Amino acid sequence: MTAAAASERPDPEDSAHTALSLWALRACELLCVLMFSTAIPWQQVCAWFAVIAAVSVLRWWHVNQPSFKARPKRHRQRVYRIYMWVLMTYVGSACWFLYVPGNLPIQAVLMSYLLGNATLVAVRLTGDVMRTTIALVLAVLPTSIRFMAEGAQHSSLLFMMGVGGLLMTLTMVFLSRAQESNVKHQYEQRRRAEAAANALAAMGLSKSRFFAAVSHDLRQPVHAIGLYLGPLSRMAQATQDRQAQRAVEGIRQSWRALDDLLSQVLDLTRMDSGVVQADLRATEIAPLVASLVTQHSAVAEAAGVRIVALVRPGAFALADALMLQRVLSNLLDNAIKFSPPGATVAVALRRASLGWRLQVRDAGMGIAPGAQQRIFEEFVQEDNDARDRRRGLGLGLAIARRFALLMNGDITVRSAPGRGSTMTVTLPRAPVTVDVLLDRPGPDVSEPPRQPVHYVESAPGELLAHPDEATQPVLAMREVLLVEDDSLVAAATRQLLRSWGLQVRHVETAADALQDTRFGDIAICDARLPHGASGLDVALALRRQGKKVLLISGETNAALRDAAQAHGVRLLTKPVSAPTLLAVLQKL
Ligand code: ADP
Repeated sequence: MTAAAASERPDPEDSAHTALSLWALRACELLCVLMFSTAIPWQQVCAWFAVIAAVSVLRWWHVNQPSFKARPKRHRQRVYRIYMWVLMTYVGSACWFLYVPGNLPIQAVLMSYLLGNATLVAVRLTGDVMRTTIALVLAVLPTSIRFMAEGAQHSSLLFMMGVGGLLMTLTMVFLSRAQESNVKHQYEQRRRAEAAANALAAMGLSKSRFFAAVSHDLRQPVHAIGLYLGPLSRMAQATQDRQAQRAVEGIRQSWRALDDLLSQVLDLTRMDSGVVQADLRATEIAPLVASLVTQHSAVAEAAGVRIVALVRPGAFALADALMLQRVLSNLLDNAIKFSPPGATVAVALRRASLGWRLQVRDAGMGIAPGAQQRIFEEFVQEDNDARDRRRGLGLGLAIARRFALLMNGDITVRSAPGRGSTMTVTLPRAPVTVDVLLDRPGPDVSEPPRQPVHYVESAPGELLAHPDEATQPVLAMREVLLVEDDSLVAAATRQLLRSWGLQVRHVETAADALQDTRFGDIAICDARLPHGASGLDVALALRRQGKKVLLISGETNAALRDAAQAHGVRLLTKPVSAPTLLAVLQKL
């Protein structure tokens, strides 16, 4: 539809010629034929109504043609007018063909028939006063005049009906006008709402395109910094220089904060612009919760908090496993963060009328009633007026709620200051079938979920480097083929891998990667390669050569995630820290 067509207000007749209206009118005419046939020869009555039916059917067929509907409004209105006036002239002429002098009942039927036609015309032609007025006059005037002329001599009743017909015509015209202005007003409002919605949709689309583009490019340098941190930390360790070690730790903390901020802001924007879709499948809740409890146990232990999970096996929700994992991980993080030492955090599952209620309860400081809705907004932190970035960003719950909504659920909070908080995630129940229970692989929870940045006060003289980086790691492989087109990322990865005692050969394109079949125990492939080549395809081809493969992507792309999972290829999303890369290589 063109912009002009979209903004054009339709004629009321554009939608009036339905099959239902056509057959309803034909039924009324049939009734009239039966009634008039009692006083007039039936051939005469049938012939008269047949002409009306033929013109009506012709009009119905004509105006429902797609080519006619595509014509400009002015043309359509001209055609509607011609048909209407021709029909009404013919209807009005009934005062000669269907009039039986002295037969009061037939004259009453005739008048009713004409007034019925007039009413239909007036109702249908709202919006075109000239078309309505002329049509009404053509339909009612000849018969009214005849009634008036003859009614004065024969019957005062018919005379009254004639006058009534005229009055009704005028009333209809006024009604038609009032309705016209009403419709105009409604149309104007709808047009404005549509324009606003279109503008918003266009904005959302350009925003999503923009962020899809920057997402990939922003992650590359952040990823490279993370990789450089490994060797840098080892160098600082080797020199025994305290100041250098502190500087490296400062860079590491800033890198984590940047990584966190970048990921969360990008997640939020991508969700708001509709790019992120939930991959809803039957997901068993118990193993997912168990794995999350294990992942959070170290943080909980450090905070002196105990985690208890009360989730029975066999409960399936219709959810995206990774999204649900992010939601629960955030709630657990907060529950641990805001609990005093010695307290217990409980994860409990309850049945709700249409699904599940998964609760994370803590006995912490609680949330003031006035703040309970605000905490789901972006960048809101009730206890961090100084905006200390190391204590989180205030985005966790905003993202968690969006994830929950994408899974057709929600998150609510119940809390009282000083008496702890209960965060409840509602999720629809999954209809579980046997094949789901047998075939569905569990969620890939081996990668630790994104943690908020916790406040770490480093005491003077404390070992600042990551423990994994202090010693030479043990790796089963010797040669790494690195397939990466970004020179910054490639240089950082090369240096990191070499610092682990590995031999690295770097290539940029798919063709170069597949050329040397002998080098490499393992291939690390970027997911997006030059000339539109797919990193996954290259990884699969390299695996056929006998290499182990690891795919690293600059985008959080659900389709790629699924494809990699289907082929059993390990996928990491940039930015990847040196310890994560090391842990994955050791596992491979
Ligand atoms: P952050 O990642 O900074 O913690 P969130 O969006 O997860 O951000 O939380 C926003 C705010 O909500 C927190 O700063 C805190 O004030 C409040 N909050 C969230 N969970 C809890 C809880 N379990 N107990 C007390 N306050 C909480």
